[in-house]
Amino acid sequence: MNNVKAFDRLAGDSSSITITVHIHPDGDAVGSGTALMSYLTECRGKDTVLVVPGIIPESLAFITEGVPEGRVIEFGKDPEAACGRIRESDLLVCLDCNSYSRTVPEMEILLRASAAPKVLIDHHLNPETESFSLVFSETEISSTCELLYTILKSMPDVGSKIGNLPMASLTALMAGMTTDTNNFANSVWPGTLEMASDLLAAGVDRDGILYELYDSYRENRLRLMAYLIGEKMKITPEGAAYMVLDKETQDRFGFQEGESEGFVNIPLSVKAVRMSIFLTAEEDRFRVSIRSKRGISANRFAMEYFNGGGHEMAAGGKLPYKEGMVSPEDAEAYILKVSALFLKK
Ligand code: 5GP
Ligand code: MN
Repeated sequence: MNNVKAFDRLAGDSSSITITVHIHPDGDAVGSGTALMSYLTECRGKDTVLVVPGIIPESLAFITEGVPEGRVIEFGKDPEAACGRIRESDLLVCLDCNSYSRTVPEMEILLRASAAPKVLIDHHLNPETESFSLVFSETEISSTCELLYTILKSMPDVGSKIGNLPMASLTALMAGMTTDTNNFANSVWPGTLEMASDLLAAGVDRDGILYELYDSYRENRLRLMAYLIGEKMKITPEGAAYMVLDKETQDRFGFQEGESEGFVNIPLSVKAVRMSIFLTAEEDRFRVSIRSKRGISANRFAMEYFNGGGHEMAAGGKLPYKEGMVSPEDAEAYILKVSALFLKK
């Protein structure tokens, strides 16, 4: 792995390293970011900070819990600190994010303008490789956490002994792989299970991680899920299921960022459903989340109709508000039309 040598050298030569991930950070983004940050800080003695676009959802806060003060900056809470950090960095690492356009505009401008070497470590389709000086891109893998695990394991100082990594890294890697595979339900490769085995042997508390991820939500989250499935979900004759989490419903249940994680997967349990689409009303757009069954490309659907992308069967995008695309009904009418076109093909 010549790339690992190059990354090892880049890390060794730099004094201020900043890691960024994608907007609406999920477990894989927070997990991979925290894992690399803890390694570079604790094993390499490097001043390293994870800068997150937006905020880390409450449900994922446990991943960064033991991390020293100041090592994680959330743009959504402190934009000046986030931008200042990017400006002063002499190495940038982009994790679980195939393009800087998937951060926030203020960060994207600074990240693109920076003269620092830029490293990409990602598992999404269509990485914007031309924007990076060193690229680790692997799409046939469970998660960025798994890809990062293979890289860290090859680092000379780790010497293929994963137990040489800080426990914060190991826990974060396990957490991110677990959420991106939907707890081993999708995208599981032989290497994924080897990684899980290796992490377990190194002492990772997987039961503790599962408790934090799946058994620690607020009651309102379950009530919201039941309401959406019961009252809002629609299924088209072509087998597209869709639901919109509108502003009114968000207010009614006191919805918090990250609480709808996993909702989009539920309709796929119906045999007739081939693709599931979940919309969340935001300030200036609907955020779109798509999952599909084998043979249907969620990625292509996201690219063609929602200016997005992702993976073959798990993708996302957006529908910006504009004339004729403001209300949940407008969005539903659009989905009805484009999903019929797409699924009839
Ligand atoms: P989720 O539905 O969990 O938000 O996202 C599913 C997958 O699609 C993730 O891998 C995510 O990174 C990707 N994704 C979500 N939104 C977008 C988007 O707007 N553009 C692109 N290129 N990928 C997205
Ligand atoms: Mn991921």
